[in-house]
Amino acid sequence: MLKKCYKAVLIFSLSLACSNALANNFTHHNVNKAKEIFKNVVSYYGGKKAINELNNVLTDYDYSTNYRTQGYGYQDSEYHSNRPGNTLSLISFNDKLNWTQTQSQYLKAFYSRTSLYQDNTRFDYNNITRTFATKNASDFDKQIESQLLRNPLLIVKSAIKQKDNLRYLGSKTRDGKRYSLIAMTLPSGRVITTYIDQSNHQIVKIEFLNDGKLSAYSYSDYQSAGPFKLPFFITRNLPDNYYSAYFYYHVSRYDFSPDVEQLAVVPKGYLVAEKYDTYDGELRMQTIGKGLYWLTQNGANTIFVEFSDHIMTVDANNGRNDGLQRRINKFRKLVPNKPIKYVSLSHQHHDHLDQVPFYANHGTKLITAKSFIPLINKRINAVNKNETVKPTFEVVDKKRVYADKTQRVEIYELKNMLHAETMLMTYFPNEQLIYLPDHYE
Ligand SMILES: [Zn+2]
Repeated sequence: MLKKCYKAVLIFSLSLACSNALANNFTHHNVNKAKEIFKNVVSYYGGKKAINELNNVLTDYDYSTNYRTQGYGYQDSEYHSNRPGNTLSLISFNDKLNWTQTQSQYLKAFYSRTSLYQDNTRFDYNNITRTFATKNASDFDKQIESQLLRNPLLIVKSAIKQKDNLRYLGSKTRDGKRYSLIAMTLPSGRVITTYIDQSNHQIVKIEFLNDGKLSAYSYSDYQSAGPFKLPFFITRNLPDNYYSAYFYYHVSRYDFSPDVEQLAVVPKGYLVAEKYDTYDGELRMQTIGKGLYWLTQNGANTIFVEFSDHIMTVDANNGRNDGLQRRINKFRKLVPNKPIKYVSLSHQHHDHLDQVPFYANHGTKLITAKSFIPLINKRINAVNKNETVKPTFEVVDKKRVYADKTQRVEIYELKNMLHAETMLMTYFPNEQLIYLPDHYE
């Protein structure tokens, strides 16, 4: 009995001593271990002196953006939208200057933009419309942070400058390789987790939370570039949400002595853009025909169609922050009482069917192509806790007409479209108007 009791006391006091030791050394251990690993990382990337002296870097990226889905729309089907492009990025640390030029393609549209950040001001030049806009001045570190994330050498450069921003988080084994995980804080305050290959001190991946969702950059194909080691292939993964996407960057060259004065020039003959675009947050309503009301906010469009005793609305678009209710309220000033009997869905991207649960709850019939139905059900089930709500569908097979003595709407099912496999085109014969959203070409 006595023996047992003694044993228990011994174990108790041992565990107490042990937890004290942990509490006292835990943080120090993490800081010191992180510093030790980081030292090797710095020397792998080119050494402290060379990294500190690095002033100008021009990077030539060939990139492609691969959208795995656009919204809920393609979650269950194999759809990839590929948008190739090229970006030149010039960062000049001493001058606090940043110049980028991007050319990209989407479907059959071509974009070309130049941006110049200098003296705490940013100018965005649209090389197609030959207009420019001035953006609110942000500080240099903020301006270059997205470019920092594509370049581990610059992450290291930034981490060298900051004191006490490294924490060792532990190690991880993946595919037979061991990685040290270190947390670093960027100038903006963003904390990133870096994965460092223990065999060669390369940063192979960083992760960080963005609005609670995990984003990641991976670096591979490391080669020598000047006095430094740098990755020539970078992937960026966006979290699985609306625009689940992958960005691939092939670096064709890093240049550490670019001609800054020749490159970072203000393009000539550009005019101030009268208005940047209609993405200014304002909700606008316009009558586009007899009984046809067009509501638009930040590029999201709704058409309310007035019949003699009811309303049809076209597209259940993105209505974040009660946006849909705001649209309905605005429309109700013109047409106060008629019930919204139908909502017609042009295609299954999130910004066109986001609000189907709202309509289903209100007993509005859903006009849809057959292929949208599983996604609509999924969306309704995800949002509605009340499983007794069963949506009513009106399926458009090739063509469906809604008409009374005051209004006529023809809805056509179009197949093998570029933007979405199936789309519903809305035709208003009285006005000879067609509504087919997102159809850029
Ligand atoms: Zn779309």
